Amino acid sequence: MKAIRVSEYGGPSVLKLEDVPTPQPGPGQVLVRNHAVGVNPVDTYLRANVDNRGPKLPYTPGSDCAGVVEGVGADVKSVKPGDRVYVGGTVSGAYAGQAVANEAQVHPLAPNVSFAQGAAMNVPYATAYHALFNRGRGEAGETLLVHGASGGVGVGAVQLARARGMTVIGTAGTEKGRRLVLEQGAHHALDHTAANYLDEITRLTGGKGVDIILEMLANVNLAKDFGVLAMRGRVVVIGNRGAIEWNPRAAMNKDADVRGMSLNHATPRELAGIHAALVEGLRNGTLRPVIGQELPLGQAARSHEAVMEPGHHGKIVLIP
Ligand code: NAP
Repeated sequence: MKAIRVSEYGGPSVLKLEDVPTPQPGPGQVLVRNHAVGVNPVDTYLRANVDNRGPKLPYTPGSDCAGVVEGVGADVKSVKPGDRVYVGGTVSGAYAGQAVANEAQVHPLAPNVSFAQGAAMNVPYATAYHALFNRGRGEAGETLLVHGASGGVGVGAVQLARARGMTVIGTAGTEKGRRLVLEQGAHHALDHTAANYLDEITRLTGGKGVDIILEMLANVNLAKDFGVLAMRGRVVVIGNRGAIEWNPRAAMNKDADVRGMSLNHATPRELAGIHAALVEGLRNGTLRPVIGQELPLGQAARSHEAVMEPGHHGKIVLIP
């Protein structure tokens, strides 16, 4: 089969399309023929070995894909060959024609959902769900700011929050992005490149501020988030690309929480709950991943450039 292989850490050009043996499912494992593969910012960090977190070399990148079950190992009960599935985490790597995953990583994909949308589920939507409900304790009736709502995680968060009955404010850096954020269910969209754009939140919330902020770029926004947070509000740090100097008095003054989250730390029980909610959300149509670009698998390098460009909007997927 064709697969993208990384034999040295570095820029996008280290992603090479190669012929490799098709992996075989062991006990408790599932072989999936991929029809689409999700590209996430974390794939670029691992490729570049940021913070020495890169996988052992050589490796096939990617955790997210969707396709049709081709084979199952002993003891697999929840899926069978021919089933449409999306995959969240793999054993063999997702940037490939086929991938082996553990049974718990394989989830049913409703017939109304495309494979590209299935490949857009795992990291973006599971992160959005875990941040909003497990870490942020978001509840119906609360007001949410999705600070960076036009990307994969942000669109997921907007849809999940709206379906739960929250009031949603989202930000994006372009007109197209703000239109997308409104189309996906946000009540209001703001421009995070405009001067004093957060002042508008005071007006939108009648001076109270927002109960929760899902923060996609904490090194840029964390300090100013406290200016628009309600008393006893929570900021969930999802994305961060640098260090800042910040006065903790801002948290003290509002009994506010800053809560970090990494999807990697979700427990098996939390992951089972997250995916049960996502499978049902896809089935009933409240979750509708937005695909921004589809590229052939051989253009994985281009996809890694694109996923780090501002204003790309919607999910980037590779088609094997
Ligand atoms: P993405 O699709 O590339 O989206 C990035 C988002 O950030 C876009 O909405 C972008 O808006 C927005 N943004 C750009 N400048 C901003 C600013 N100054 N203030 C607020 N938002 C800004 O990425 P993603 O997949 O949604 O992931 C978002 C971040 O979360 C990434 O840093 C990713 O690494 C991280 N992440 C963390 C976890 C975890 O477990 N903690 C899991 C998944 C992702 P415009 O392009 O419209 O300007």
